[in-house]
Amino acid sequence: MPSSRTGFVFDERYLSHDTGTEMRVQMNGGSFELSPEPHPSSVAITRRTKEFLDGSGLTARMLPIAARAASEDELAVYHTREYIAGIRALSENGPVQGPLLTDWGEVDEDTVLGPGSFEAALYAAGGAMNAVSAVLEGRVHNAYALLRPPCHHAMSNKALGFCIFNNTVLAAHHARNVYGLERIMIVDWDVHHGNGTQDAFYQDPGVLFVSLHQQNWFPKLWGELEQVGNGAGTGYSVNIPLPPGTGDRGYRAAFEQLVLPIGQQFRPQLIIITAGQDASWLDPMAHMMLTMQGYRHLSALMIGLAEEICDGRLVMLQAGGYSAAYVPYCTAAVVEPLIGVNLGIVDLYATAPELERCQTILTQDTQQALLNARAWHKRWWRI
Ligand code: ZN
Repeated sequence: MPSSRTGFVFDERYLSHDTGTEMRVQMNGGSFELSPEPHPSSVAITRRTKEFLDGSGLTARMLPIAARAASEDELAVYHTREYIAGIRALSENGPVQGPLLTDWGEVDEDTVLGPGSFEAALYAAGGAMNAVSAVLEGRVHNAYALLRPPCHHAMSNKALGFCIFNNTVLAAHHARNVYGLERIMIVDWDVHHGNGTQDAFYQDPGVLFVSLHQQNWFPKLWGELEQVGNGAGTGYSVNIPLPPGTGDRGYRAAFEQLVLPIGQQFRPQLIIITAGQDASWLDPMAHMMLTMQGYRHLSALMIGLAEEICDGRLVMLQAGGYSAAYVPYCTAAVVEPLIGVNLGIVDLYATAPELERCQTILTQDTQQALLNARAWHKRWWRI
């Protein structure tokens, strides 16, 4: 095993994807302005997370993996060439915020493109692919990529939910096209559904897509149990919608009852995690109540699965996470088990009394959701 077991991708260009501020309040018959607040997918969160990994000493314990620009051909394994050109032009002439509907595709109302966005997105995609290369070539055992912009909502010709190119999809294709892998497992623990990732592999039995997300949330009508794949891919899209308040205990049960046994049966050669730290209890965009400790445990469970079935080959790609205060803590908590350390970072925030309940009680709502998911997915998996 290499002396640095964990690779780390980061590039200063990620910080030039500037989403700006939000200040305008819309109402019937008009609007008004408040003093500006950062856009929810703010560059400050990425910067603070990098500073946290640096300050805690975690970055220094990892092997730096340089990012690079993805080529147009690499992007075009999923995205249309018209979309790639359209995003480049918008970005160069930006800043621009959706909604935009054009002849080459779509940008939704949440997504901002500025002068640095196209290059940041190219380097995020290339960074994801380089993380996969480093693991598959044995230069590191596993890797964390602190990417920006995020990825899993992006579709072939649609920028959605802050996402421009789908780094997860491109990383999986890279593993297959360059290294000849036949079975790849994607676990998406971002609190929102990874609609773009599901779309990309919906008919593909070589890529198992498992998503845990807040039920009936974003994007609308995606991530239902019934969306199981199509044709040869039937059974290989595994959606696990969870109720608000699922918490550490509920997530652990979901992994133990579904994610781990399904992974053991699929026996992937590589696991890619779309790591959204927006299921945390402080996240303003969802309500799932995970703590830093909960994230640490999910990371450890996935590392254990990777060690058991694919020689530890695991790549984590940063996705969502909108609490500037807490995302850095939760990200450090998923990175520590990759490296195999626990630096004793004190969770300043996990003091609210309701958290103890979410850490210890498997609520009836969550039990029912897991029962439903198991009853449904057992048509394809022994669970
Ligand atoms: Zn998300």
